[in-house]
Amino acid sequence: MTHKILKKFYEYCEENKFRLTAPRAEVLKIIIASNKPLGAYEILDKLKGVFKNPKPPTVYRSIEFLQDKNFIHRIESLNAYVACHIDHLHKDSQFMICDDCGIVIETHQCEIPKFLKDSAEKNTFTPSRWNFEIHGICAKCV
Ligand SMILES: [Zn+2]
Ligand SMILES: [Zn+2]
Repeated sequence: MTHKILKKFYEYCEENKFRLTAPRAEVLKIIIASNKPLGAYEILDKLKGVFKNPKPPTVYRSIEFLQDKNFIHRIESLNAYVACHIDHLHKDSQFMICDDCGIVIETHQCEIPKFLKDSAEKNTFTPSRWNFEIHGICAKCV
């Protein structure tokens, strides 16, 4: 059975006339299959099980495409990627990262919290993108 994120990705590419290349699909599959964030080199390593001689630029281009289309998110503090499990396209995110097992939980808050919005306004600052990461311990590891 095709994973629902993958299915959504196939449909999205078809609707928008984006090329559904094998590396793009395989990189997404690898990220979906992982239960913790993966770095670019871990993805490249796993890709070796699928393609003969994958090159880093292939991985980077696929990651860039998937990230740009919001199918994966970059966890800045880990320099790694997770699949987006929230069923809508959104620009900004908050993540809770378990320092013990490495699981990443995406919160549904896609808006800048009000006190930060107010503070930005007070400073006449226009936010363009943001990323909020909280490290801690998940329910399973507590
Ligand atoms: Zn998401
Ligand atoms: Zn945990």
